[in-house]
Amino acid sequence: MSPKVITFDAQGTLVDTRWSPARLGRDLIDLLSLPVDREAAPARLQASLGSRWVEYQAVNLLRSEIEGDAFWGRLLGDWLVEYGQPASRLDEVMDATRDILYGPDQDYFSLYHDVMPALDAIRSRATIGVISNWDYSLHRILRMLGVLDRFSFVIASLEEGSEKPDPRLFGIASGRAGVMPAEMLHVGDDPIDDLEGARNAGMAAMLVDRSRFDCVPPYIASLIAIPEVLRWTS
Ligand SMILES: [Mg+2]
Repeated sequence: MSPKVITFDAQGTLVDTRWSPARLGRDLIDLLSLPVDREAAPARLQASLGSRWVEYQAVNLLRSEIEGDAFWGRLLGDWLVEYGQPASRLDEVMDATRDILYGPDQDYFSLYHDVMPALDAIRSRATIGVISNWDYSLHRILRMLGVLDRFSFVIASLEEGSEKPDPRLFGIASGRAGVMPAEMLHVGDDPIDDLEGARNAGMAAMLVDRSRFDCVPPYIASLIAIPEVLRWTS
């Protein structure tokens, strides 16, 4: 049966990510010539996010880019102060953060080459959505990559308080799509989070592995193979 709704994982499936808090810390130090330890300070920023994860989870549930950005302001502000930098540099650091992550020359996020052709081939045959273990920034990043409006719904785990492979997150997606799980196909790159998770929720699933040359279920070598595997005639 042809799925009415096809959902995609983000990281590793739609979006190639080269993001980490430590890398952001290093880039901020270099861009702003911050006089702090270039080895220890980035690792410290990464650890700070980990130690404030419960707070970050609560912030994400607000589903607000303003609240999410405010959290990063607090995190980066405390990081500056910890390394003896004046708190007055925070505005400059926040502007640089936006530029590094979301500016025209950002090098943290890109779409895989097969994403746009695959979405173009699918859009007339099925509703398309995203189910991702990601924070509030997912919408902004998909918008930046020029693909947000291709999706009827975008579900970020941290905004829902449930993450893959928990079937609840997939259940939220089927509710949002207004169809039964059995009418949905989920495409991802993780055997546990995407394949097991989706199947446990009653959905069909495919795994994309771009290092493969062939498509052997449940694997596809490219997202472009989806219509063929579904035996859609063009
Ligand atoms: Mg993934």
